[in-house]
Amino acid sequence: MHEPLIESLARAGISRRNFSKYCATLASMMALPPMAGQAMAQALAATPAPAKRPSVIWLPFQECTGCTESITRSHSPTLEQLIFNSVSLDYQETLMAAAGHQAEEALHAAMKANEGKYLLIVDGSIPLGLDGAYSCIGGRSNLDTLKEVAKGAAAIIAMGSCASYGGLPRAHPNPTGAVSVSDIIKDKPIVNIPGCPPIPVVMTGVLAHFLTFGTLPELDKKGRPKSFYGETIHDRCYRRPFYDQGKFAKTFDDEGARNGWCLFELGCKGPVTYNSCATTKWNAGTSWPVESGHGCLGCSEPDFWDGGGFYQALSMPASPVKTVAVAASVGIAVGVGVSLMNRAKKSAAKLGHETTTLADLEKQK
Ligand code: SF4
Ligand code: SF4
Repeated sequence: MHEPLIESLARAGISRRNFSKYCATLASMMALPPMAGQAMAQALAATPAPAKRPSVIWLPFQECTGCTESITRSHSPTLEQLIFNSVSLDYQETLMAAAGHQAEEALHAAMKANEGKYLLIVDGSIPLGLDGAYSCIGGRSNLDTLKEVAKGAAAIIAMGSCASYGGLPRAHPNPTGAVSVSDIIKDKPIVNIPGCPPIPVVMTGVLAHFLTFGTLPELDKKGRPKSFYGETIHDRCYRRPFYDQGKFAKTFDDEGARNGWCLFELGCKGPVTYNSCATTKWNAGTSWPVESGHGCLGCSEPDFWDGGGFYQALSMPASPVKTVAVAASVGIAVGVGVSLMNRAKKSAAKLGHETTTLADLEKQK
């Protein structure tokens, strides 16, 4: 039974004022104008009767349920979950009480009643091998279901790296023939929210944007919301000053590691990974992987699993300042620079990323 959002907030001990603040923060994270936060708070708090809430259909395909877990993680209630109360989540196998025929009926009833208006969320990749037999729901392949349900959707959110790019199931040699949502669906607006798993507040932000303005946020070339994926982990990492000074941890328990030095030499992929972990953090802003002492794995980039060893350093200049200074002193700066740049570009290309190197990023600033 749905209840008005404002009542859910009160029951959870969240005042209107705090909710407005949360919406203002969300709007500023998404680089929206100041008034947008207020508009979001009003649109979300004024929850209409359940029957009129925007319909959301969530299809889980070839996945590990990590994306669902990320959004609905157990230290509830969270504001993210409360925002989900603003929609009518008409089909989500993991969360819905119905099962079997009842669940399939709920799916088809929602599609019929909200033709052309519902938001489709997909997590997991779509296996094409063996005619799609690797992953079926109700006897139908994920490919068939996706094509059918996408037809009546207003827009699609590809949730997580599997739905966005094929993810782990697509890792070499891709035994199931896994592909992404955008490999199959070409005639609908699609927003990719990659990450393994994706950050809950990114999902909430996209949903809040859709509920408030009826549109998807501005996307980058890889279909990701620019506001959350516009900068690299490295751009915003609090260990960055150590990188710039050439201070690197050599093992996970040496003095450098204990002093919080840069994890570049331990394989951190932060310089070529676009995501907002360094600013939004995880678990209600508690911490994030680099703060916990582990390098970024590059999980929001295509083919990150095949992009070289997780603990292998990127082939790019460790400490650009130092490298250029030494090179200049022996008169070979240009040659070394070009060589390092090429190595960095190869490394970035291996990760499936556009060939953006640290030097390119520096130039953009
Ligand atoms: S390489 Fe990794 S740990 Fe070092 S500054 Fe960049 S993101 Fe942070
Ligand atoms: S720090 Fe890197 S690997 Fe870890 S969740 Fe963020 S983008 Fe993914």
